[in-house]
Amino acid sequence: MIDVGGDRKFYIASEEEILEGKITDVYFMRTREVLEKSGESHHRVYAEVHNYGLPAGYDWAILAGVEEVANLLKGKPVNVYSMDEGELFRIFEPVLAIEGRYVDFGVHEAGLLGILRHATSIATKAARVKLAGWGKPILFFGVRAVHPAIAPMADRYAFIGGCDGISGVLGAELAGVKPTGTMPHALILTMGDQVKAWKAFDEIISGDVPRIALCDTLSDERFESLAAARALGERLHGVRLDTPSSRRGDMRKIVLEVRWALDSSGYKHVKIFVSGGLDEKDVRRLVDIADGFGVGTSIAFPKSIDLAMDIVEVDGKSFSKRGKLPGRKQVYRCENLHDTITKFDVRLERCPVCGKPVKPLLKPLILDGKVVREFEKPSEVRERVLETLKKLRAIEEFNPEPQLFIP
Ligand code: ZN
Repeated sequence: MIDVGGDRKFYIASEEEILEGKITDVYFMRTREVLEKSGESHHRVYAEVHNYGLPAGYDWAILAGVEEVANLLKGKPVNVYSMDEGELFRIFEPVLAIEGRYVDFGVHEAGLLGILRHATSIATKAARVKLAGWGKPILFFGVRAVHPAIAPMADRYAFIGGCDGISGVLGAELAGVKPTGTMPHALILTMGDQVKAWKAFDEIISGDVPRIALCDTLSDERFESLAAARALGERLHGVRLDTPSSRRGDMRKIVLEVRWALDSSGYKHVKIFVSGGLDEKDVRRLVDIADGFGVGTSIAFPKSIDLAMDIVEVDGKSFSKRGKLPGRKQVYRCENLHDTITKFDVRLERCPVCGKPVKPLLKPLILDGKVVREFEKPSEVRERVLETLKKLRAIEEFNPEPQLFIP
């Protein structure tokens, strides 16, 4: 067996290795070595993190991972400015910026971007699924899609992005919420009979857990749903249809048939939850007839929200590579989600588009190595994300680019 280093059993970095920057790309190490040995280590730079192209069909993203980045950079001789965790952003907008000697933070670029990109990609996808299923609970069942080392992270950012529940036991504990879940096929198969399994669940599991019977294991969804309703009666909260794709046909027709059968047999109180390989478009197609959704892989393995870090100022002078706007910038937003990008020291009071008051989105996160921001609980961040999603629903035409650039 290959020795993966000491008593390491999994191919994952320890917290110490992440904090030391050991996970970095080697070229950042070489850059630091060259700057130090050539007497050029004194240069102070200002580097911005931004997106220059979202996935097709995406007009915005939800920033996440800010608290973890603060933990990565605290204690280092840098100043960091950032948008809030859970803030909506558009392309071109700086979401986070670092100021300091390049040799003091350059090796952390890979770790910092990795945290922000992964967290932001999951939170953004969760927000999109939440919008697709607006008004109905979206439960995240995706920890099995990622390496267990990052399962709590997937749960956290799916929750922040707007999911109503998360299934991971440790992820939920770290997010300060109760884990959500019903029963797997394994329970029914191991006991050998659906009714026996549903009844045993009802007898044994604590009364505050909603009785949601999995109804697709051995036979047709309609017949299993009616059997569950007859077995548990008033105590049955809902049925979950996790129909395998090989048997699925048209899920909308299956849900309609189950609804019809339950209603016409006097079980109108029984809700229908759908899970199994769902993406945004599936949720949108079922939102008017299903009562809730379990979504896993499409949120756990979302499209990547690319974020890059670019130097825009060196030793106090605006300076950048081609294709990027030089100089440090601020983003101002009004209540209508109009954004204006300005030079950092321009003070904007009112939105140039609608005249409403604006607020700067980049705020100090770390000053001289000290974290200067109080972090909210995940549930509080999630509430802000949901407020933003409500606004997005009310906007008829969302401009995917910042409205204006005022130099
Ligand atoms: Zn405005």
